[in-house]
Amino acid sequence: MIEVTELTKRYGRTVALDGLSFTVRPGRVTGFLGPNGAGKSTTMRILLGLDRPDSGTATIEGRRYCESHRPLHQVGALLDATALPAGRSALDHLRWQARSNRIPQRRVVELLEEVGLAGVAHQRVGGYSLGMKQRLGIAAALLGDPPVLLLDEPVNGLDPDGVRWIRQLLRSLAGQGRTVLLSSHLMSEMALTADQIVIIGRGRLIVDTSVAELTERFRRGVLVRSPGETELAGLLIKAGAEVELEPGGGLTVSGLEPSAIGELAALHGIALHEVTPRSASLEETYLALTASSIEYSGGTSQ
Ligand code: ADP
Repeated sequence: MIEVTELTKRYGRTVALDGLSFTVRPGRVTGFLGPNGAGKSTTMRILLGLDRPDSGTATIEGRRYCESHRPLHQVGALLDATALPAGRSALDHLRWQARSNRIPQRRVVELLEEVGLAGVAHQRVGGYSLGMKQRLGIAAALLGDPPVLLLDEPVNGLDPDGVRWIRQLLRSLAGQGRTVLLSSHLMSEMALTADQIVIIGRGRLIVDTSVAELTERFRRGVLVRSPGETELAGLLIKAGAEVELEPGGGLTVSGLEPSAIGELAALHGIALHEVTPRSASLEETYLALTASSIEYSGGTSQ
């Protein structure tokens, strides 16, 4: 479990974190979201002991990262995939890390296979594409088979195949009971990967909830299509629902569950062709929630 409690961090006059608290639990993928400059990387760096908070605590399994004796066995992290020694091969890069934590060399070979770099393991990483560097970073994070993973924007630079690969990998790691914290500024990516979402803006918590709950919270009625639309609309209004006619045909019904709409239609012998609960997309929800905390945004000039 990862616990961030009342974290505060300033850089000069910039308040990067402003009393941030949240908990990340095992067995699921937690998406850590926020616009650029929200404080995600600062939080990750503090969790890994690379930066000190002005106040507050950040612990992993109840301890600060720097108190770990064999850290690769406890926490796997990928903060910046490009921070690599350009002249070294992927194989050597993983080998020294493995040795530093007494991890058998066969694990290195195994992981190079798993992340799809076995064929280029002897090449110098300076010539790698960003996607290949991300894969290498993931391999390094997994070296010690850690129960906790912290990954900062790991899908950046990956092609669609790579994105799908990482999504499946993270889901399976969480399925094994690991704690997976994954940051991104893209909600669309998180909607497909995460179970839980922590959104921050300007160093503060905006939302900490499940993807399902977030979707539910921004429900936008139920789309109903029926050949008996006019009669059904009257019945729905009588039953207390709000009904709007859709320009392209169909009704948007608010205030009644899909099951209640179906039963009302059945009671009056009205056929239904479609009953679809509608939500704002997670992307729209995210934009609405973070609108006021965007550091730099494009706009029309006056
Ligand atoms: P995110 O990862 O969400 O994009 P960061 O944690 O990188 O956000 O940054 C949060 C805020 O702190 C931003 O305003 C950023 O400019 C500032 N910041 C981050 N690191 C430093 C630093 N080393 N020196 C000065 N300001 C920093």
